[in-house]
Amino acid sequence: MNDPMNDPMSDDAAMLIGGAAVFADERLAVVDPATEAIVAHVPDASPGDLDAAVAAARAAFPGWSATPIASRRAVLEAMADRMLADIHGLKRLLTREQGKPLAEAEGEIGAAAHWLKGTAALELPGGVIEDSADRLVETQAVPLGVVGAIAPWNFPMLLAMFKLGPALLAGNTVVLKPSPFTPLTLLRFGMLVADLLPPGVLNIVTGGDRLGPWLTAHPGVDKVSFTGSTETGRKVMRSAAATLKRITLELGGNDPAIVMPDVDVDAIVPQLFWAAFGNAGQVCIAIKRLYVHAAIYDRLRDALVAYAATVRIGDGATEGTQIGPVANADQRARLRDLIADCKAQGYRVIGDDPGEGPGFFVPVTIVDNPPDDSRIVQEEQFGPVLPLLRFDTSDEAVARANVGDYALGASIWSADDGQARTIAARLTSGTVWINEVQHLSPRIPFGGQRQSGIGLENGPEGLREYCGLRTIITRKHG
Ligand code: NAD
Repeated sequence: MNDPMNDPMSDDAAMLIGGAAVFADERLAVVDPATEAIVAHVPDASPGDLDAAVAAARAAFPGWSATPIASRRAVLEAMADRMLADIHGLKRLLTREQGKPLAEAEGEIGAAAHWLKGTAALELPGGVIEDSADRLVETQAVPLGVVGAIAPWNFPMLLAMFKLGPALLAGNTVVLKPSPFTPLTLLRFGMLVADLLPPGVLNIVTGGDRLGPWLTAHPGVDKVSFTGSTETGRKVMRSAAATLKRITLELGGNDPAIVMPDVDVDAIVPQLFWAAFGNAGQVCIAIKRLYVHAAIYDRLRDALVAYAATVRIGDGATEGTQIGPVANADQRARLRDLIADCKAQGYRVIGDDPGEGPGFFVPVTIVDNPPDDSRIVQEEQFGPVLPLLRFDTSDEAVARANVGDYALGASIWSADDGQARTIAARLTSGTVWINEVQHLSPRIPFGGQRQSGIGLENGPEGLREYCGLRTIITRKHG
């Protein structure tokens, strides 16, 4: 048996089940998006492996839920410290399996550790509602049981910590399922922290397309916390209904940004660029529709195109790379199809042709004022392809920004904060940023409206989703 801790690039990574490293007869290949070479293999869990993970989590639940919260906080902090101590190994692995540049990978691991620490500082819900002459009425937070946590491939570590931190703090035990495209960093994390937790409190299982449905249907799982696409979110909700599992769904977005004519164009172009193209555009809250006032439209478009020409695209493992490939072949195929559709419809597409060759590279592409009913405006592209849309009045911009099934994030860019806040109050998204974008914190609730999700992550409201409430009503003696 290989020791998965010896070498961050070990070919044989292990699942964490009941505190032990577990391999499987079947394995899945993990591919480097920059080279298309196989980086490593991971176990393709069987139903028996999943049963073992859920059984271990159930067995660990009584002890962990009875552990004083101060101890649970300390464990989260210790997990964060282990992560930081290995940040260089973790970031190299993350770049290899996900494609993002090393600097972004390091940023993600640092943020993941920050999230565990920030979550450790949150307070559980509950307290005294009434303490009168007649009665004492109190609520107490109770953990839900076993949490099935399902993570996507765009920020594998950070988005898993959005779930692990509050689930464990509230006293739940966890079965975590990484994306089959990006399981390696989380498996390494599992081995790094295994001895900090009683066996079974945290289990990490890997597998292909069958494993997610098995997990969401498993009768031993009490809650599913899912981050991924809206399409998969619907399946998760349907599956969870059979045993009335609690669900938190963080789903897709098609975030609008509205740029008013009073902005300093040169100053905001780099911010807008990275908000759209950072992580190769694979961010749930990336700017995905950029509405620009007609008075500055041409100038801003040209400045964005000029800025794009300065950005270094390549293998994320090469120092200095700013944008890597997209994370997998499916995603590249979707993006190529969207770009081809723009060209076929006769829209002006600014960007190089996607060349053939190793690596799932998609060029930075700007689509110049396509119509509102185009696919590139209506669909979530989730890649480095951005439509710029010209508008004349703020009423028009608001109406166009609010269209569609998604309502995750939005941003407004203006020198006039009052005007921007008035516009913000009319946007239907879960989060609206003014003169910045993508600022998240373990203390700030985050979630989508409409088909961008159900429930919240982060902050006390996010922690609340991992708790039931027990109400105790005591009639006082006369
Ligand atoms: P995805 O829905 O394909 O997969 C997400 C996870 O679900 C993976 O672990 C996958 O293996 C698993 N899965 C697939 N089918 C399943 C099923 N039937 N039952 C249970 N689990 C299943 O999403 P993705 O392609 O990994 O991620 C991209 C999407 O995620 C985008 O739409 C993006 O906007 C969204 N996203 C949302 C947020 C947010 O916080 N709202 C954050 C990041 C990404």
